[in-house]
Amino acid sequence: MRKVYLDHAATTPVHPEVIAAMLPYFHNYFGNPSSVHSFGRDSRKAVDEAREKVAKAIGADPREVFFTSGGTESDNIAIQGVALARKQNGRHIITSKIEHHATLDTCHFLESQGYEVTYLPVDENGLVRVTDFEAALRPDTILASIMHANNEMGAIQPIKEMAAIARAKKVTFHTDAVQTVGSIPVDVKELGVDMLSLSAHKFYGPKGIGVLYIKKGTRVKPLYHGGSQERKYRPGTENHVGIVGLAKALELATESLKSRQAHIQVLRDKLIAGLVALPEVELNGHPTQRLPGNVNVSVRYVEGESLILSLDMQGVAVSSGSACTSGSLEPSHVLLAMGLTHEQAHGSLRLTLGIDNTQEDVDYVLSVMPGIVERLRQMSPLYNKR
Ligand SMILES: *Cc1c(COP(=O)(O)O)cnc(C)c1O
Repeated sequence: MRKVYLDHAATTPVHPEVIAAMLPYFHNYFGNPSSVHSFGRDSRKAVDEAREKVAKAIGADPREVFFTSGGTESDNIAIQGVALARKQNGRHIITSKIEHHATLDTCHFLESQGYEVTYLPVDENGLVRVTDFEAALRPDTILASIMHANNEMGAIQPIKEMAAIARAKKVTFHTDAVQTVGSIPVDVKELGVDMLSLSAHKFYGPKGIGVLYIKKGTRVKPLYHGGSQERKYRPGTENHVGIVGLAKALELATESLKSRQAHIQVLRDKLIAGLVALPEVELNGHPTQRLPGNVNVSVRYVEGESLILSLDMQGVAVSSGSACTSGSLEPSHVLLAMGLTHEQAHGSLRLTLGIDNTQEDVDYVLSVMPGIVERLRQMSPLYNKR
């Protein structure tokens, strides 16, 4: 059976060149980067070079790049770290209703610790309104965290505009750019953000390694205590194998950004066109201001979970909502925030394309979809009652 992977927003396979770059560091260059001897120095050199590559790719200074265990940890260090460092200035934080749970749950935790959080709504296309952001700022606002692009429906947020407003009010601005780095151009200076999270496994690097960019001068209190690795923001022996892999993956992504983007976007538009041509299937998220590989549709009268299972039986891997919320029967908080009904949100499907997908993959999905939708609808009480 044909196998088609369309869940690249959840994770991506490690690129063969990334694997090749990592391999020597498991065995030949295994030293602890903190060791003084030649084994240690080899590993330290690899970490330093990786930091320089990452800095170059995102327009930062190497001293502003901190390696973490991934997107979730970067978001936590950023949000909790600023909340702790700036609590004398106030205890108000601004975020949005469509953030990844790494951000939302961190904000919920801070609410339990006496902070106040404003969760901004989004419009029907899934975009935060800059005017809402501006109106939410208060004298006691210390931090804003708005994601660069959404992992479920792909809408790319007006980060540059919001970061500029935050800067004028001396509010620290963090963005979760886990979905955009490696996928569209991301430059921290261009965006004007103080902090930015990224994660290697979303751009053909290994899992369990990420970066938090912290602009020089930003006040952040470390959450962990131990060694002085990553200038105390992330103590513990560096995952130097992962760090080498992340830097290589980011280098490859940056070099081929345009061609990857063009390839994936053509497939995306073909997939969207084919899906919305089916009766009562609608696109979710902004029609153009969206990630190159993101397709999110609501299929009326059908449960997203049933669609996933039926497609899986045909060898097609997709998801509904995010990897983190599927499995729970709650409809997507993102789609509900966009004003979709529970029924529409339950009937949603996310298909995210990657560099290895082909026209034939898309043709195959579009060939099996009508039969699956028709069969599930025939079994649906909602469909038969309509
Ligand atoms: C995947 C993802 C995360 C979590 O990253 P991990 O490296 O898996 O912890 C955070 N935010 C967004 C937007 C993501 O897509």
